[in-house]
Amino acid sequence: MTAERIDGKAFAAGLRERVGAHAGKFASATGRKAGLAVVLVGEDPASQVYVRSKHKATVEAGMESFEHRLPAETSELELLKLVEQLNADEAVDGILVQLPLPGHLDEQAVIGAISPDKDVDGFHVTNAGRLAVGQSGFVPCTPLGCMMLLTDRLGDLSGLEAVVIGRSNIVGKPMAQLLLDANATVTIAHSRTKDLPAVVKRADIVVAAVGRAEMVKAEWLKDGATVIDVGINRLPPAEGEEKGRLVGDVDYAGAEGVASAITPVPGGVGPMTIAVLLRNTLVAAYRNAGLEVPEGL
Ligand code: NAD
Repeated sequence: MTAERIDGKAFAAGLRERVGAHAGKFASATGRKAGLAVVLVGEDPASQVYVRSKHKATVEAGMESFEHRLPAETSELELLKLVEQLNADEAVDGILVQLPLPGHLDEQAVIGAISPDKDVDGFHVTNAGRLAVGQSGFVPCTPLGCMMLLTDRLGDLSGLEAVVIGRSNIVGKPMAQLLLDANATVTIAHSRTKDLPAVVKRADIVVAAVGRAEMVKAEWLKDGATVIDVGINRLPPAEGEEKGRLVGDVDYAGAEGVASAITPVPGGVGPMTIAVLLRNTLVAAYRNAGLEVPEGL
């Protein structure tokens, strides 16, 4: 068997197109564009790249992008003041503070200061709580993107065995909640799990969010499993390469022979994250304007 490659890039492009179309309708209905404010503190090179691509994608989707770049030595009080100002700004529907923050800033305090109704990253404890009890809020972009790919492929997930490897607040835990909400039987595996291969072997759905290059082997997988690979790992450069290859947490070449479908790295989950961020921002805009969120977003 050769697994079907789940094309996250194409799915994300479709989602961005739908968001763009609805963003246009939102602007005509309200006389203003939906707006996303992104706050970057310091000069972390990876964060700068992320913030730039979020800005570009927001503008391309016909939404307003407000960028706030602050020096690394910004105090917590200054940052909290900016968040307060953005909370009160009616042109701003979504607020994203790019993580990681410099070490002297308390990430939890900063995220906690964002209005939960503008927390389009879904990191605020109120939104984590809403997800846990099944209320509508904002769900972190990466796991929500994974869920969209899964339901697009599998439809009803009721009764399927799902194993999520990784228990972070931004990927593993919300992923498990979403799968549970969809009536899957969910196991969360992590660094202390005993006999991980045997746990993974049960799974109809495997979501790997660990951050270890090609850790999940073909032999661990059940025949016909659907595999979502969240990991992004750079291998050391091979001879003649300037940069090492990007790989996921799953041994793609091996898994392809056992799974029924699998997301590649790159081109699988990665492109979904920004597309879902745009989607969450537009959902926030509709809700903040007191309008019904259109179907299909
Ligand atoms: P994290 O470091 O916060 O969490 C990793 C989790 O893996 C932990 O819960 C830990 O218990 C578990 N783990 C570590 N070693 C393990 C082992 N040997 N066996 C089983 N479990 C083990 O990471 P994260 O933020 O959840 O991210 C995970 C991966 O996903 C990273 O590679 C990250 O780059 C990637 N990621 C990708 C996107 C995207 O847009 N595609 C978004 C977020 C994270």
